[in-house]
Amino acid sequence: MAVRTASPPQLPDLDYEAMTAEELIAWAHQFFWPRLCLTCSWQKQSSVLVHMVADLGLRMDTVELDTHLFFRESYDTRDALVERYQLKLIQPEIPTIAEQHRAEGANLWERDPDRCCHIRKVEPLVRALSPYDAWISGIRRDQSPSRSETPKIEWSDRYQVFKIHPLADWDEKRVWAYIEVNEVPHNPLHDAGYRSIGCIPCTRPTREDEEERAGRWAGSDKLECGIHTDTTLERTTTTT
Ligand code: SF4
Repeated sequence: MAVRTASPPQLPDLDYEAMTAEELIAWAHQFFWPRLCLTCSWQKQSSVLVHMVADLGLRMDTVELDTHLFFRESYDTRDALVERYQLKLIQPEIPTIAEQHRAEGANLWERDPDRCCHIRKVEPLVRALSPYDAWISGIRRDQSPSRSETPKIEWSDRYQVFKIHPLADWDEKRVWAYIEVNEVPHNPLHDAGYRSIGCIPCTRPTREDEEERAGRWAGSDKLECGIHTDTTLERTTTTT
């Protein structure tokens, strides 16, 4: 899998949708490792996946997209998971907030959140994924309508990697059950009503009667930071 191509390399003809999260991770590790990574934003899905990889006796690089605007609790969660699971953390370079203010003006997230996410998340992720052929992400179908068609595995033209979603068919309850049964460290902001957690300026707590990601970019029609939209938009386009 070392050669990068414009079209997706062929995968074995397997029923990926029928695989459990553990089976999919184990298969991905066997097929792609060492050119396989896990991305973490230190939300509850990160806790599940980090534990699951360790529980399977596997190791893989953990890519952190630190926008420099995370909550203190997210950094504390990262530190707890890194220490407990001895994670090898990959941290792509991201412009400092001061650099962004100088180049784009103050508080870009208030004026053009799509551009801010592009600078602080999408571009760094494109660079971070260049050594890999596959990327494991924690997105779930029930998080929002924009994620409802997420397959267990798909090709990304933008990143030139396979995106693997072991938790695609998990719901929020199942995520919490896994964390509680396995006593995995998790982001304490979830216990304070933040069902989805991103950067401080763009995150508020979410009520039980709202969609899980309603607290992200609240008050705007923005639903995604953009790192998943090359594939989610493609699916939306082809299914409408
Ligand atoms: S979530 Fe908000 S602050 Fe973070 S990168 Fe996107 S727009 Fe910027």
